Amino acid sequence: MSGVGFDGPGRTKDLLAAVCAHADEIRAALLARPGHGAGPLDDVLAAMDAGAGLAGPLDVLHAVLQASGDALGLLAYSDHDATTRGLQPTGISETELAETVYLCPTDRCTRYWFPIGSAPVPGCRFDGAPLRADHL
Ligand SMILES: [Zn+2]
Repeated sequence: MSGVGFDGPGRTKDLLAAVCAHADEIRAALLARPGHGAGPLDDVLAAMDAGAGLAGPLDVLHAVLQASGDALGLLAYSDHDATTRGLQPTGISETELAETVYLCPTDRCTRYWFPIGSAPVPGCRFDGAPLRADHL
């Protein structure tokens, strides 16, 4: 087991991090399914806008994605594994990479992003605001 606690209290924020970072891909996956729309995703985004409880809509979206053939559901869209793997590319010092981390500007999800070269800082789904820089 990886020890990543997706069933703990942080599960909603972890599911939300997948939506925050990958809503467009999730929408494409939903729309690729005949007979299904992007409703489950829109419900999550609407709940985000309304400040409503997110655990329910997130679980529905997660289940719909799992039913469409991806056993990982929303967790398939988690950035965390890829980000961790990208932490130590050859030729770039760890200290240089560890100086700054970008976090969800609303602190509502567990998304984080490390600067990659001159790539533009991505925005959060909540209001489109760029992720905020923090120092480790
Ligand atoms: Zn976010």
